[in-house]
Amino acid sequence: MNLNNNQLLKTQNFIDGQWRDGAGKLAVTDPANGDLLAEIADGSAADAEQAVAAAHAAFPAWSRKTAGERAAVLKRWYQLIAENREDLARLLTLEQGKPLAEALGEIDYGASYIEWYAEECRRAYGQTIPTHNPAMRLHTIRQPVGVVTCITPWNFPNAMITRKAAPALAAGCTVVIKPASETPLSALALCVLAEQAGLPAGTLNVVVGSDSAAIGKVLTEDARVAKFTFTGSTPVGKLLMAQCASTVKKMSMELGGNAPFIVFDDADLDTAVTACVATKMRNAGQTCVSTNRIYVHESVHDAFVAKLAAAIEQLQPGHGLEPGTTLGPLIFRRAVDRVHGLVEEAVANGAKLVLGGDFLPEGENYYAPTLLTDVDDSMRIAQEEIFGPLAVVQKFREEAEVIQRANDTPFGLAAYVMSENIHRANRVVEALEYGMVACNAGVFSTTVAPFGGCKESGIGREGGVEGMAEFYETKYCCYGV
Ligand code: NAD
Repeated sequence: MNLNNNQLLKTQNFIDGQWRDGAGKLAVTDPANGDLLAEIADGSAADAEQAVAAAHAAFPAWSRKTAGERAAVLKRWYQLIAENREDLARLLTLEQGKPLAEALGEIDYGASYIEWYAEECRRAYGQTIPTHNPAMRLHTIRQPVGVVTCITPWNFPNAMITRKAAPALAAGCTVVIKPASETPLSALALCVLAEQAGLPAGTLNVVVGSDSAAIGKVLTEDARVAKFTFTGSTPVGKLLMAQCASTVKKMSMELGGNAPFIVFDDADLDTAVTACVATKMRNAGQTCVSTNRIYVHESVHDAFVAKLAAAIEQLQPGHGLEPGTTLGPLIFRRAVDRVHGLVEEAVANGAKLVLGGDFLPEGENYYAPTLLTDVDDSMRIAQEEIFGPLAVVQKFREEAEVIQRANDTPFGLAAYVMSENIHRANRVVEALEYGMVACNAGVFSTTVAPFGGCKESGIGREGGVEGMAEFYETKYCCYGV
């Protein structure tokens, strides 16, 4: 592997400030071509327990530091990430597949959480509450919750870690992370830089392992853990929530979505197409806020589909490190077969294939960017999270009808509205039962705003002041005078 800073390639777990071997080895491969990138330590439940013990031991000293002291370490970490952004992006593309430009974007986006929370932790204000009794004084203080454990997915191997670790560490918590086994190299590289930045031993720990269930059990059930935070699929999230119940842990869940993308007859179609391609095809469709159901008003349906097809045809599949690539592979073959199965089933039930619908010669994990029309809400493709480069268009006639159809799902993560009519846009944004709604935009996630879902898409928020609050306990202090 060709990196400027070879220290970033680590193959051991990072526990209590030490790089440790596991019982076995885990292969990390390039999803674009199957090349072996590294064999890394395969951590176990025992490693997870040691990591929790280390985080527990490190908590008193780290939480007692002033916010300014913690901020200084986090800012050094941010700076080191910025200095190594090209290498970090290369590693990310190699293990995950996304085009290098997107990987660079993820590194910058991920690092921005570290910078922002380093500043935000200085503002952990409490309150002085007007008393109900002249003989008493009432205050609140905010204190870090304690040891935080995290499980993260493969689709954003850098940012899904910093979105959790940055506010947790800034608040004074200590952290144990289990990244996805497909993409551990980005997580371990972040630890290299955290160590160089001066994060004390045990403050940040990473345990990679193929036995997710065993490691996950420790991270969700160990009584020393105060808070568990998960990003991943809804079925796994539900299982982990149940595990957290045994010790009544605080938890945050960033789970799956089924995002509607609504194009009204008064939309600017070029803006709508640009937004649609960005949300649908970025990361080969493997994002939780990816558009799943595109509802287009019947009067502009054909014009929108023609423009969307033309834009999708411009996508250039290839290896993420190849200049010009705008569509990488899916993460593994199982995902390709799943997407193809959804397409075949929809076509068998009457959907019309406008573009794609097949495998690609670039490699076994590639799937052609695909466009289907004449889909209806009863098809599996409209009900399940697609997680692939597959755009699915349906028609609608009335505003009330499309709001009802958009909300008719157990998910509630992201939704999109395209309209030039501010009154309609306002009405529809407010009526959509989603944690996040973007109007006339396709990419909206930012450090300074709360990211998260409602219904079966999750609990809690990441980013902004809400993301910091997740890692504090508010203590009410009452003094008799
Ligand atoms: P996944 O749920 O299969 O895996 C996520 C993580 O959980 C991985 O680290 C995996 O190893 C681990 N895991 C799996 N089974 C486990 C178990 N029994 N016990 C403990 N850990 C276990 O999800 P994925 O396929 O990696 O990611 C895609 C999903 O993540 C999609 O549904 C997507 O929408 C969701 N996602 C959500 C957000 C968000 O912010 N809401 C962001 C990114 C991805």
